[in-house]
Amino acid sequence: MKKISLLLVIALLVSSFVFQISANAAESDVVKIRLPFDSAKLSGNKWGKFASGGGGQYHIAEDYVSVKDGKVYACADGVVKGKWSDSKTIGCGLYIQHTINGETFCAEYGHITNIPDPLKKVGAPVKCGDLLGYVCQKKDSKKPGYLATFKYATHLHWSIKPGAWKGGKWYAGSDKDLYYSSPEAVKKAGFVNPSDYIKKKIK
Ligand SMILES: [Zn+2]
Repeated sequence: MKKISLLLVIALLVSSFVFQISANAAESDVVKIRLPFDSAKLSGNKWGKFASGGGGQYHIAEDYVSVKDGKVYACADGVVKGKWSDSKTIGCGLYIQHTINGETFCAEYGHITNIPDPLKKVGAPVKCGDLLGYVCQKKDSKKPGYLATFKYATHLHWSIKPGAWKGGKWYAGSDKDLYYSSPEAVKKAGFVNPSDYIKKKIK
């Protein structure tokens, strides 16, 4: 009887070891990709839709408010290609070229503050999930992230263009910078719906 239980224990140990190995293998196959926040609400300024701000045109990005803890994360591994502004009115922005399984796309993370110093340099490597900074807060806020004197800047402005970094102006080809004259113009300029694009890759 004792011999049987000993054999049973050995069998269980071996099977759990085998299971662990296969679990580790599966983990390494997981594509490292995520949304740039833990949770947030999509504001009225949706991708490719008529937007109320910036001249009342069609938006290239999604604007997210109520970002959990204000924290904005890199949605995949990549490299910093540029940044916008540094102003205390609308905050800063980062342009990052991401690569997942050999597929490249570029993302803009706008209206953020407190970007870690190493990420302020073009060429800086970024890992999926790295903290890029905090969404701008209003002047009197006690939350992390410094003030944005422009009240409409207190959201994450997030846009994506598939393909490698081309340099030049992110909004190139625009008739009104961030805001194009039609949904077709937004697509023609190379922008895609950012959350749809990332969620398809997470699946
Ligand atoms: Zn926006």
